[in-house]
Amino acid sequence: MSPKKGRVFSGARPTGRQHLGNYLGAIKNYVALQTDYDCVYCIVDIHALTTMDATIGLKQNTFEMAFDWLAAGIDPEKSIVFVQSHVPQVMELHTILSMVTPYGKLIELPTFKDKIKQQPKNINYGLVGYPVLQAADITLYKSDLVPVGVDQAPHIEFTREVVRSFNFRYKTDVLVEPAMKVTEIPKVLGTDGVQKMSKSLDNHIELASTAEETQKRVMTMVTDPQRMRRNDPGNPDVCNVFSLHKIFTSAEDVKSINAECRNAGIGCVDCKKKLAANLNMYFTPFRERRAELVKDPDHVEEILRDGAKRACVIADQTIHEVHEAIGMLE
Ligand code: ADP
Repeated sequence: MSPKKGRVFSGARPTGRQHLGNYLGAIKNYVALQTDYDCVYCIVDIHALTTMDATIGLKQNTFEMAFDWLAAGIDPEKSIVFVQSHVPQVMELHTILSMVTPYGKLIELPTFKDKIKQQPKNINYGLVGYPVLQAADITLYKSDLVPVGVDQAPHIEFTREVVRSFNFRYKTDVLVEPAMKVTEIPKVLGTDGVQKMSKSLDNHIELASTAEETQKRVMTMVTDPQRMRRNDPGNPDVCNVFSLHKIFTSAEDVKSINAECRNAGIGCVDCKKKLAANLNMYFTPFRERRAELVKDPDHVEEILRDGAKRACVIADQTIHEVHEAIGMLE
């Protein structure tokens, strides 16, 4: 086996059953990175507490997400998969890093500004510190690379700055500046064809849906808005159904759908039926694996606990080095 190129870290809030946006924007990438990197994948339940809604059904959502991750191919033999709160050292590092973080910087981050608009009645202290906790997650595991969506880019830049501040203040090189790997598909559109696919907008297609549910959702997808009637020629370049065909349909079929849409040879209904069939085919093995995992949640919990144990070993070492760098009595 060739040596790994470094350590990858990624965390996502326990949002329950994952959708195509999560899969194409994150999970698929997580699975692929396991070949070349030591990967640490974390279900960040503490981060979820910054948003009240996300705390409803937290335990179940944590399981649902773990089922999806594992069924999709995140392999606990290759990677560390765990729940953030099971490694409490991250809370300590968060507090330590908060001392080298200028407050003004946090409130200027675009993600924070968006959040205040989204939840004006719940601008809690934790929300302001969200990126500091993220920086603690990344640096606790001495991560070299963080796969993110473009919207998270400022947070990685922020983490790099925090690392530089810490290392400069304590004249050390204990913390590692992470690089960022922007996901290839940063924005999967929802069934409305306009907004980012998201659970809260109810425009999503869940990976774990049944074949019938998937077909039902796909049939509601908005296509080329200019194509009003079956005999109108369509424009695949502006059609979200076609974007998904490009991912889930064979190259040969994509070519013919492209041509036939433009000359009205194929209608949107048939085009969607094809997409639903291909999605269902693609996710059949995933759904079978998931069904097995769902039958045995205790086993999934063991996987997560074992992941936390392995994560703790790295975390303890980093915290020890941080204490030494600062000059604390251990
Ligand atoms: P979090 O805010 O904790 O990252 P999300 O559920 O919003 O949780 O996203 C989890 C991951 O899935 C992130 O990496 C995010 O970029 C990705 N993701 C979510 N929705 C989409 C989408 N519609 N298109 C592309 N990527 C997405």
